[in-house]
Amino acid sequence: MSLPPLGEERLSALLRHVSDTITVFDAEGTVVWLSCGSASTLGPDDQDGLGQDALAQIHPDDRLTMAVKLAELLTVPGGEIRTEYRVRTADGGYAFCEGTAVNRLDDPLIEGIVLTSRSITTQRRSELFLRSQAGILDAIATGSTLDDTLGQVKQLVEDLVAGATCAIELDRPHAEAAAADIDPWARCLVGVSNAVRLGVLRVTVDDERLPRDEEVSVLDTAGHLAAIALERVRAEEGLAQLALHDPLTALPNRTLLRDRLNLALRRMGRHQQSVAVLFLDIDRFKVVNDSLGHGAGDELLVALAGRLQLAARPGDTVARFGGDEFVVVCEEVVDIVHVRTLAKRLEAAFDEPFRIEGGDVVVTGSVGIALASSATEDADTLLRDADAAMYRAKEEGRGRVAVFDAAMRARAVDRLQLEGEFRQGLARGELVVHYQPIIDIRADRIVAVEALARWRHPTRDLLLPLEFLELAEETGLVIPMEEEVLERALADAVQWRVNDIDLAINASAVHVADPDYVSRVRQALNRTGWPPDRLILELTERVLLDDDHGVLSTLGALREMGVRLVVDDFGTGYSSLGYLHRFPVDGVKIDRSFVERLGTGDRDEAVVRAILAMAEALNLDVIAEGIETGLQLQVLRRLGCRQAQGFLLGGPVEADELKFD
Ligand code: C2E
Ligand code: MG
Ligand code: MG
Repeated sequence: MSLPPLGEERLSALLRHVSDTITVFDAEGTVVWLSCGSASTLGPDDQDGLGQDALAQIHPDDRLTMAVKLAELLTVPGGEIRTEYRVRTADGGYAFCEGTAVNRLDDPLIEGIVLTSRSITTQRRSELFLRSQAGILDAIATGSTLDDTLGQVKQLVEDLVAGATCAIELDRPHAEAAAADIDPWARCLVGVSNAVRLGVLRVTVDDERLPRDEEVSVLDTAGHLAAIALERVRAEEGLAQLALHDPLTALPNRTLLRDRLNLALRRMGRHQQSVAVLFLDIDRFKVVNDSLGHGAGDELLVALAGRLQLAARPGDTVARFGGDEFVVVCEEVVDIVHVRTLAKRLEAAFDEPFRIEGGDVVVTGSVGIALASSATEDADTLLRDADAAMYRAKEEGRGRVAVFDAAMRARAVDRLQLEGEFRQGLARGELVVHYQPIIDIRADRIVAVEALARWRHPTRDLLLPLEFLELAEETGLVIPMEEEVLERALADAVQWRVNDIDLAINASAVHVADPDYVSRVRQALNRTGWPPDRLILELTERVLLDDDHGVLSTLGALREMGVRLVVDDFGTGYSSLGYLHRFPVDGVKIDRSFVERLGTGDRDEAVVRAILAMAEALNLDVIAEGIETGLQLQVLRRLGCRQAQGFLLGGPVEADELKFD
């Protein structure tokens, strides 16, 4: 069967169903014939294009290229070119087109250039869309600036939504952001992980119309990308804030403080003025924590942080150094008088009581000042000096201001030297252990021996703990020190070969807080074969004041092993009676200061009697320390105290000087 000949009517019917458009224009570029393709590829209205300039509706950016190509084509009869361009559409947008033009000017049936073109808009848009998305995600991932990334998001919208201008507004108030919910051209930027509104993406178009389907998805995606970018930046800011600020008070932390101080010191090098560090510590903060709870302690710190910020000059750095310590860095300081005025302002922060948990709390603070002397001074030295001055202020009575001076510097240097020597001394085996008996004063016999550390310094006398213990605790050297005391004392005790004598060893709060403490004690006991129930650990009240879970479980584990625990220097701490039933202890050692005045007045006798009564009620052993006189011993006996220790009964001696009978 053969097809009937193509009449004009039939031809145009056929062409209507061809997706390509055929345009014929003459050598001047005037459109002379148009097929009615289903896609408009040369202008808003195909038929209107008749008689018009073929290039009139081409995107301005593509028009020149197109004109050049067509001009070339005109010179080649029968020649052919392929081209891509954008053309204006009925709705004001541009469509991407791809076309083939053939020079048929010589063909008597056509006499024109024949352009066969089709829209490739969908393809191109999705390519562009994908490329832009990938670019933006890349920018987010590689940490481009927020401006940059949001700029790319806006560009994406403007490229893909005809006639659009895009704006991204950050941190809009809630009401305005909410309006974005009903504006079809706006998108709320909502955090992906926490659903927090971060801003609004808003698009304005030239004409009033609703977004088309593909534009809706562009807006959705753009909103999403912008939210991711914003959220990422927020998260980074949050991390930076966390890393450099104290979470409780939001003040700069130690790291940021050091940075700022170093910066200030460098700046100082170029000016005549000095930099001052004011180190402030709340006096007896522990009492607040212990009596009112940590929540109250935190409240106080936050309130004080606020007051200090108010008291400081603009530009000064107020930082939280640690626990209850704050540091203020002041630049452009003229002289020490000037700094003292600043310190007074900080001190005034304590004038008003702090209103905490419904009650008024009055505290004081001690301030230490260090003034940078030359540009070479580093942050750590200055902080250390200010800290040393603060300790001096505390020693002089609380609520005071002290300035770091040459004598203190000398002391600090001495201390540094001593630390080095102590470290070396430990390694060289200069640590010695002496033993002091603990006597049952009714049966008149030794019931225990206390091990006491000494340091055989190479050039000085035998040093007592008073001279090195604080340093050992501050530097952590107390841990290796006590490990050694433990090992030696247990090894010595095994050599005594006497029955029923307990060994008492002092344990520093620093060491007890060490996670390995229990296993260290266990191993030492195992190695030496000393029975655990004949080991007594003497803890200071400080150990018990750190009432965190770790300490409790350490003490529990020690008792589980059979080791006994007594509280040393009992009565000198803060809340002596309160904690005794909370902690698993077996006894208390009444501090020397109560024993000292026994027999000379009623007061201390009453204290000792009260301790004995309480101990009996709680079923605790009591040992009295520091018995130097017969009178003291007599009173203790009368009060019913069973055990005592002191120079009168026997001072500390070397292991082989101990006599047990
Ligand atoms: P402490 O545990 O209260 O030990 C008793 C201290 O009082 C010893 O001082 C002892 O020599 C002294 N003493 C004993 N009888 C009398 C007396 O009748 N009159 C006077 N005035 N003093 C007396 P020492 O050896 O100087 O020790 C001081 C402190 O150092 C000890 O006090 C103890 O808390 C601590 N210490 C000693 N060795 C260690 C240790 O290995 N680790 C820890 N953490 N602390 C230790
Ligand atoms: Mg002791
Ligand atoms: Mg003691």
